[in-house]
Amino acid sequence: MISRYMKEKLSGGSVIRAMFEAGAKMRKERGDENVFDFSLGNPALELPSEITEAVKRLSDEPGIHAYMPNAGYADVRTAIATDYNRRFDTKLMAEDLVMTVGAAGALNVFLKTVINPGDEIIVPAPYFVEYGFYAENVGAILRVVPTDANFRPDMDALRAAVTSKTKVLITNSPNNPTGVVYTADELSAIAEILTDAPHTVYWISDEPYREIIYDDAVQASIFNYYRNSVVAYSYSKSLSLPGERIGYLAVHPDIDDGDDMRRALVTANRILGFVNAPALFQRLVGMYPGMTCDTTFYKRNRDLLLGVMDRCGFHYTRPEGAFYLFVDAPVPDEAAFCARAMDFGLLMVPSSAFGVPGRVRLAYCVAPDMIRRSEQAFWGLASAYGLAGRQ
Ligand code: PLP
Repeated sequence: MISRYMKEKLSGGSVIRAMFEAGAKMRKERGDENVFDFSLGNPALELPSEITEAVKRLSDEPGIHAYMPNAGYADVRTAIATDYNRRFDTKLMAEDLVMTVGAAGALNVFLKTVINPGDEIIVPAPYFVEYGFYAENVGAILRVVPTDANFRPDMDALRAAVTSKTKVLITNSPNNPTGVVYTADELSAIAEILTDAPHTVYWISDEPYREIIYDDAVQASIFNYYRNSVVAYSYSKSLSLPGERIGYLAVHPDIDDGDDMRRALVTANRILGFVNAPALFQRLVGMYPGMTCDTTFYKRNRDLLLGVMDRCGFHYTRPEGAFYLFVDAPVPDEAAFCARAMDFGLLMVPSSAFGVPGRVRLAYCVAPDMIRRSEQAFWGLASAYGLAGRQ
């Protein structure tokens, strides 16, 4: 018999998974060309050719498939630390990094390392829904903090949310699902709030979309603002490698209890059952620490989709990064709006999956042609709700 906890999880279901299944059914019934799937953050962008060639070469190297230290290869961590320091003017060393099974692995490793049951994790809304499960994995309570009308951090709300029970703050910039990128001033203001807390509050910056930013947005490093901080990074999006499960956790060189912290992180990586991050892909990212896919692909997609939204009369939060568009539902019940969208072959995720009401998320990491072809469908949906329509 499965545990009560898992039974509860199964009955809860996942909105995104439900969309995925609905999409498969719709494709079968209506044909691929009549379904416009904006539900999943699975990059349609191909890997750089250097990467695919290197994967082939590496897979033949003697010893490449063996176990290694639980923290990951030291030379790979040195290469990544050097690249990070060059970009962000920091002083990371190899021992400040643990190679992890994606950003998800990094988040779980850090929470396992610092959380005592009953501790609180605060997170601004909307947030990546898996954080709730990661909190439960370690017996923590997730406290959701409201943001302002543009989904930017609300410093008063954040200050009020920090209590004696707060152990961790998780922020995610560029943000899934809003595309908001925090400015250096915002990072500095958050750091001030955490510094004022009477006890140590750790700050995790979850950054799988770090390389995907647009226009004038600038990605700053929290390491330059707050000492008790860690960065969870992933190559899932920057190199279009989500299935290969490769990322890292970096800790501030001067984090509290640094020696114990570093040893505990490595132990957590092992005892959570990850043991180590995938060997071949560690080697790969060590060879190309700063490489990314052609992220202008996402900017072109964003602009295409914004054009469609504007012509159809939808309102949205203009994304500064990541590859998601957060659109206002024209009715309060966003789930009903998503259901109606399916009549037009459109798949999108209701914002309740991210802890806020009244919006839908469109993932535009898709083939540009699908965005172009979807305009008719969005037009039909907009007309069904009496929106302004084509100007
Ligand atoms: N954090 C956020 C905000 C994400 O959107 C995702 C994946 O979509 C993750 C973490 C997990 O990333 P990874 O594939 O590296 O585990």
